[in-house]
Amino acid sequence: MSSEVKLDPWGHISVKDYGWLMRTFGIKPFNEVLDKLREIAEPNRYMRRGIVFGHRDFGKKVINPLSKGEPVALLTGFMPSGRFHFGHKLTADQIIYYQKLGVKVHVVIADAEAYAVRKMDREKTIEIGLYEYIANLIALGLDPSKAVFYFQSNQKPTYYRLIQMFSRKVSLAEMEAIYGTMEPSKVVSALTQAADILHVQLDDYGGYKNVIVPVGADQDPHLRLARDISDRFHNELNLERPASTYHMLQRGLDGNKMSSSKPDSTIFLTDDLEVARSKLMKALTGGRATVEEQKQLGAEPWKCTVYDFYMFQLIDDDKRLQEIYDSCISGKLLCGHCKRNAWSILEKFLEDHQKKLEKAKDIVLKYVDPPKF
Ligand code: SF4
Repeated sequence: MSSEVKLDPWGHISVKDYGWLMRTFGIKPFNEVLDKLREIAEPNRYMRRGIVFGHRDFGKKVINPLSKGEPVALLTGFMPSGRFHFGHKLTADQIIYYQKLGVKVHVVIADAEAYAVRKMDREKTIEIGLYEYIANLIALGLDPSKAVFYFQSNQKPTYYRLIQMFSRKVSLAEMEAIYGTMEPSKVVSALTQAADILHVQLDDYGGYKNVIVPVGADQDPHLRLARDISDRFHNELNLERPASTYHMLQRGLDGNKMSSSKPDSTIFLTDDLEVARSKLMKALTGGRATVEEQKQLGAEPWKCTVYDFYMFQLIDDDKRLQEIYDSCISGKLLCGHCKRNAWSILEKFLEDHQKKLEKAKDIVLKYVDPPKF
């Protein structure tokens, strides 16, 4: 990937070369903080497996304060433009992990951005934010009584004041250097994202000076802008740089980018079981052209989206995952059997989750105040 390529957090480029991202933007390898993290908590499977591959200031802003019992906040956001799928679950699992470590979780529903950049209908974004995103987070295990949920278009005035203030110290040329071609909707959305990331440092929102933002690799532009802005407002607003982690994006079932707008590329957590099964059975694998060839040569799990599902979502036990990998490359495991095994795990998860989701939908409005128009 050329250094001229800009990352587009609004979704037009998928980041395949994570090494390029780290070299170009100075992101540090996450494995360098794993041992230190183990002193206070067991890393989750995304961290152990290198799916969370990079970080900025994780030791300084997360491990050190947690080890001293100091407060840490997490900020993460969801764009309410489609249904909640397994790519979103990757972020959800991480924020639940941090909540269990005592981190104060803040979840923003980026409805203003969905309206301005994705041209979504307002009512639809609010409904999706409530009943897809927040409800799924609760059903997955996020404790809503210990989390803060908000919509971008329904915050307190001090949050909007940040957006106005930030506009004074950022130039259009600088934003274009980070994001590529800009237009008013993207300028406002980018400054709003910076306010999302930084507002938890204000006294009105808890005054958290240690903030972690776990993001997919394609969201780094927002972190770079927010960190630059925090430097410029360090004296005026006492803002500090947030820490971040970067995770790989799980490929879609067709081997390309997973997306809500391509329903066959992913499994939604609300998919009817038969629909989900059918998608998994049709998923791209790393299998050979014939059974005989596969028995002889072994398959290629690194090309396989079913293996991705095992690695990202279905199997927490590293030893069990290694066994699947070994049986796959040795040719002992055949794709039909392997997919049925994956489905048996996934089916149990979906059945259980969908029951929890119905209950979560009933309580969502206790925990968030949606915009009125
Ligand atoms: S055996 Fe399983 S992991 Fe290996 S390529 Fe086939 S479906 Fe993928």
